[in-house]
Amino acid sequence: MATPELLPLFDTIAQCNRCGFCQAGCPVFRVSGQEHSLGRGRQSIARSLILGNMELNAEVIEALDDCLLCRGCTAHCFPGIRTDQIVTAMRHAYIKRHGQPTWRRLLFRKILSDSGRLESAGRMALWAKRHGLSALASKVTLGGLDQQVKAAEMKLPPMAGLPFLRGDKASVPQPKRRLHKVGYFVSCGLSFQYPEVVAATLRVLARHGCETVVLDNTCCGRPAHAYGDLDSARDIARKNLDRMTEALGYDAILSECGSCSSFLKEYGELLKDDPTYARKAEALAAKVRSFSEFLVAANTGDPLGALAGSVTYHDPCHLSNRFSKVTAQPRALLKAIPGLTYKEMPEADWCCGAAGSYTFRHPTEAKGVLDRKMGNVAKTGATILATECPACMMHLDYGVRDHGLGMQVRHLSQLLDDAHQAAD
Ligand code: SF4
Ligand code: SF4
Repeated sequence: MATPELLPLFDTIAQCNRCGFCQAGCPVFRVSGQEHSLGRGRQSIARSLILGNMELNAEVIEALDDCLLCRGCTAHCFPGIRTDQIVTAMRHAYIKRHGQPTWRRLLFRKILSDSGRLESAGRMALWAKRHGLSALASKVTLGGLDQQVKAAEMKLPPMAGLPFLRGDKASVPQPKRRLHKVGYFVSCGLSFQYPEVVAATLRVLARHGCETVVLDNTCCGRPAHAYGDLDSARDIARKNLDRMTEALGYDAILSECGSCSSFLKEYGELLKDDPTYARKAEALAAKVRSFSEFLVAANTGDPLGALAGSVTYHDPCHLSNRFSKVTAQPRALLKAIPGLTYKEMPEADWCCGAAGSYTFRHPTEAKGVLDRKMGNVAKTGATILATECPACMMHLDYGVRDHGLGMQVRHLSQLLDDAHQAAD
């Protein structure tokens, strides 16, 4: 049986000339050596599905599941084929026909789409991790979810204090002189896993003259989109748009999570066929800035004091030139910190293998991708590894421990915060 749902992408898929240049940029192919892991292999599967030479069954979807959606292939592809878009479309077509596991349906449709339930679920997960219950859950068979919990147990660093709450106005530092009014989009990964990064970001924003309003947003929707549940991703986007109407009048809406900011910038494309939300989604996308993008454009910071050591920067995929193209700004901010030596790493914009929950679903491929990244990190000899994404922080921190590199993994906002405090 053919898969006509993919027909709108046929012209794109037909541009693949099978040259194989995508081999050079695919981190997964470098580990697996499998043709199906490669952009060319994925276009071939899509073509066979459209022509009815292949069934869209569980086996095919499992083969497609090892794609990081990182666009490493696109950067090396002469026609610029967006393999991530094609893989997502195939995952979406599969879900439409065969559904998805109950836990995923509940997660995307009931929890991630509702900021209140999301907060409760996040707090429960933190409580469970602190009391060892997630370790217990990893010993129970839960339809594949148990394997992911087990991998998460191993890779997640210890949880710091309490999570940062959405809509929290009380703990936001205020600027001495108000120059900008910004909406702060709360990232799930940072608010639950790294609340200390959120605190650092808010302090830095105050130093840059920002009156910051913490938004009452829910998840950005990227996880649902990556799994191919595009209906849930659109539903989540609409709910966020409803909650961010006032913020459209601010100077900017920003996030220090590269995945959140880049996905918010894609809302216009995601909802382009929705007559009610299309214009609002475009307006929001135009207002969104990543943290470093905003700071460099605003150029209004307090003095920076000296920090010791040397730093290298890992580009999160979603801030790289393949997505949001925010690459010069984080480097400029790091180079501006006195005393800190900047060291560029080879392949800085290659995926680290985290890719949301990919590292938990595909530990072998993710480990191979991470090992390559860690080899490049080690070549710099830097003492600090900086980035701008919670999933990257988690995975890089695991890699640093695993490789015994003995360096710190910090978010860019934490280093700027330290430098501002060093100037006091
Ligand atoms: S998106 Fe990334 S993982 Fe997927 S085929 Fe392209 S390079 Fe490979
Ligand atoms: S680089 Fe592009 S055109 Fe060449 S094989 Fe890969 S996907 Fe096809």
